Parts: sequence; C-alpha cells; structure tokens
Amino acid sequence: MGVSSIRRGQAAMMADRRVRLSRAGSAHPHRADANRNAVGEKHARITSRTRRRGLAGLPFPSGDVMDLKSGYPFWAIRNGLMHAFPRLQRDLDCEIAVIGGGISGALIADELAAHGHEVAVLEQRDIAWGSTAASTALLQYEIDTHLIELSQRFGERNAALAYCACAAAVERLGEVAAELRDVDFRRQRSLYYASRSSHLPPLREEAALRARHGLALRWLEADELAADYGLRAPGAMLSECAAAVDPYRMTSRLLARLRRRGGQVCDRTCVEHLQAKSRGVELRTADGMRVRAGHVVVAAGYAGQRWIDQPLARNRSSYAFVTDPLHEDELQALRATMVWESARPYLYLRSTGDGRLVVGGCDDAVDLPARRDRRVQSRANRLVRQVQQRFERLHLQPAFAWAGTFAETADGLPWFGAHAQYGPRVLFAMAYGGNGITYSMIGAGLLRARIERRAHPLARLFSFERSPR
Ligand SMILES: Cc1cc2nc3c(=O)[nH]c(=O)nc-3n(C[C@H](O)[C@H](O)[C@H](O)COP(=O)(O)OP(=O)(O)OC[C@H]3O[C@@H](n4cnc5c(N)ncnc54)[C@H](O)[C@@H]3O)c2cc1C
Repeated sequence: MGVSSIRRGQAAMMADRRVRLSRAGSAHPHRADANRNAVGEKHARITSRTRRRGLAGLPFPSGDVMDLKSGYPFWAIRNGLMHAFPRLQRDLDCEIAVIGGGISGALIADELAAHGHEVAVLEQRDIAWGSTAASTALLQYEIDTHLIELSQRFGERNAALAYCACAAAVERLGEVAAELRDVDFRRQRSLYYASRSSHLPPLREEAALRARHGLALRWLEADELAADYGLRAPGAMLSECAAAVDPYRMTSRLLARLRRRGGQVCDRTCVEHLQAKSRGVELRTADGMRVRAGHVVVAAGYAGQRWIDQPLARNRSSYAFVTDPLHEDELQALRATMVWESARPYLYLRSTGDGRLVVGGCDDAVDLPARRDRRVQSRANRLVRQVQQRFERLHLQPAFAWAGTFAETADGLPWFGAHAQYGPRVLFAMAYGGNGITYSMIGAGLLRARIERRAHPLARLFSFERSPR
C-alpha cells in the first residue's frame, strides 16, 4: 500500500515538476546544480583571523553543504519556485546582513526592516529550501520540555516567561500572516494527550501549572476524547492557542515583501568567510563578493552549529507524510485541532487548508542523510499504523513522505544572541526544538532589541550564557 503509492506519487510529481519548472526557465534541480557548481559542494567556510585584537573570528570547518532533508517535502512541491531572487554579484555595504533565507532569517529580516533597518539576506540555496521546506509547521506555545521541568531547571518565573512569550509569538505570527495573506495560516486548538495511563498524573499537574500562568486550556477525559475526536487515549489537555501555516509560502512572501521595502535578498549566495571587527563585520561569498555590515545575524538553521566550537544541540531525523485531501466526515474535529502526545518521540498530526492531514514523528538519532533517506517510506508506514492505533476511523494513505534533520537542545530552549567566539556584532539565531518557528518569531524581536541596545525579557534565558539553577 503505502510504500509503492508514495514512490509512484513522488516520482510522478518530481517528473512533472521538472518539466513544469524547466519550461518556466528555472527548476529547483537546475538551480541546485548551479548552486553546486558555484560553491563546489563544499560547506561555507568562515576563515576569519582568529581573535584579532581580542575580537571574534574563528575558522569555519569545511565540508559539504549540510544535507537537511530527504525526498521532496510537500510545501515546495505544492508551491513550486515562488519568487526568483538574484545572486549577489557586486560588493555590498549594509547595516545588517542576515545569513540564511529560511523562516528564521525571513522573520528576523522582516522585523528589522519594518523598524527602519537596512537589511540584506544572503542564502546559499534557493529561498526556504533548507529545513523550512521540510517543516510540518505546527505553531505552538507548547515547548517540548514541560513547564514543570523548565521551572525546575530555570525557576518558575523564567519558565512561565518562555511559555507565555511563545503564546504571544503564535499571536504575532497570525498578525504577520494576515498582512502577508494567503500563507495557509489557520488558528487551531492543540490537543496534547497522555500516551499511557501512567502519564496522566504528571500531565494533570502540568495542565494546572499552565492554567495558573494564564494559558487557556481545559482537561478532557477518555470518553470525551473518544466522542469528540475518535481518539483512544486516557486523557488530554486541550489548549486554545495554536496555529498552522505553510512555512515555505510564508518565508517566500516575507522575503518578497522585504525586497519591496527596499531590502536586498540574494539566493545562491554562499557566505564563505566571516571576520568580525570592532566596528562591523566583513563577509566574503563563494563568488568572491565582499559584504560589509554593522551587524551580522547568522540564521543558518541547523548548520549554524558548525560555526561555534561548543556542543549546542543533538541532531536527529524526523519523518512526515501528507495525505491527499480528506472528506469532512473523515477529518471532523481534526480540521481545527492539531494533536500530539506525551510519549517521546511523539506522534503528531495537523490539517492543511485544503483538507489534508500532515502526520509526523518516529524521530530517531540518525544523523546520516543516506540512512535517513532509506527510512522515509518505512517510517511513513509506521506512522500510518500509529495513527490507526489511536484513531480507529482514520485509514490514511500517504501521498508524499519526507524526512528532515532537526536539532534539539538539552533543555528544549533555543539560542539567540552573541557568542563569545565572535563578539557582539555577530548574532546567532538558532531556533532549535519542536516549536522552532515560534522561537524564530520571538528571536526576531529579541535580536532587534539587541541591535537597538534595548533590554529584552528573554535575552538571558535564550542566550549562550544561560545556566540551570
Ligand atoms: C521534519 C521537521 C518537522 C518540523 N516541524 C516543526 C513544527 O511542526 N513546528 C515548528 O515550529 N518547527 C518545526 N520544525 C523546525 C522548523 O522547521 C525549524 O525550526 C525552521 O525551519 C528553521 O528555520 P531556519 O530558517 O532557522 O533554518 P533553515 O530553513 O534551514 O534556513 C537556514 C538557511 O541558511 C542557509 N545557509 C546556511 N549556511 C549558509 C551560508 N554559509 N551562506 C548562506 N546561506 C547559508 C541554508 O541554506 C538554509 O536555507 C520541523 C523541522 C523538521 C525538519
């Protein structure tokens, strides 16, 4: 069933896509080849002079461009190449250069440009073609680490601050999406169910603590879950604050808007060298162009780890598939409710605007792209079985399946800000964790505050200097 139909679907779609896009004169496969030639398939090297006059600048390890995903994730297939951006072909001076044209770089650049900063985004691939294209894009206030556990590590005040900031970020993402229009942003509820009866007591405590901090939710018993969702589980908390989006479309639209506002967006532009100086940062691209900026934001996704000589996160592989559009009778309450669970790794699902279900999970410790690639179809079949064990009425057929690398930190929190290795003018945006897109929205405001020399309530907790109690 699943395996052959996924293969047939993907092969047909890829063939169709090549024809369609090459007729239009720019297919991703062709542009990817051009990319490869341009950068010689080597990873961007940041070979700055080491600690000149005590300032930042460390060698960046060479290697391949990080292989982030397997197969053709759904969003890119559905949307095609939305906007073409030029390659950087001359030297450039700007106030802020953002390395990385994924959802993080796009949200940060948008925030900065909206507040009068002059921004240039440099992306080595096509826009949104890194992890953003693979994302299942559930927008949640819920951090993978429970509020109770986060409180034990960093104090209840800090933990609640992080949770409430995520809730506010989901709202803010909704506002940005409304301005952009047509990015398949839909408000959802989030159903977080206990995978086992033994998970019920801690989950009830978690729900009570969240409610004490003003997060809107209610508890559902097993019979309500069966009646309302057709879900077999011993209990769940249902949160009001959540949403879903098409992350590829949102990134493309953000960057198109940036260009309309006078910002620069260059794709197929790989930053190979970075040197932080006392008054600014100098970048060199693989094509030999020089970029001088007052600040640089490194929004290089999971590849950003390679820039810092310190273990920051663990790379894992996550698997997902999307169905063809389902009938309303089949979707029922799942149309407006995303679902996930207390087991780790967790199974999760969400709907799309055109009535499909996106299902993800089966995360494993695989950090080898070739092995991850080989597992896509067997993992999709396993996800189908897992869904059916919980939702007896759902008989899902994957239309497209894919896998992506993602990184998670030990405490579930992201890293935003300067690192001692590079000094104050190089700011990192590492939105690592299950709700990376929500983190990116928070990071946009946090990094703007940093550049404008203002305080931000989460600056310390999301910084490289945070330490557990
Ligand atoms: C399978 C999967 C499911 C996920 N599900 C969710 C979810 O449900 N909800 C959620 O919030 N998050 C989810 N995430 C995480 C989310 O997708 C990420 O947090 C987000 O996409 C990261 O965006 P980014 O812009 O930081 O990284 P990317 O999208 O990877 O963008 C970084 C960009 O930087 C570029 N770059 C790197 N180095 C250089 C260089 N030297 N020069 C120029 N450019 C460079 C890369 O080419 C890349 O395009 C998921 C991730 C995966 C893989």
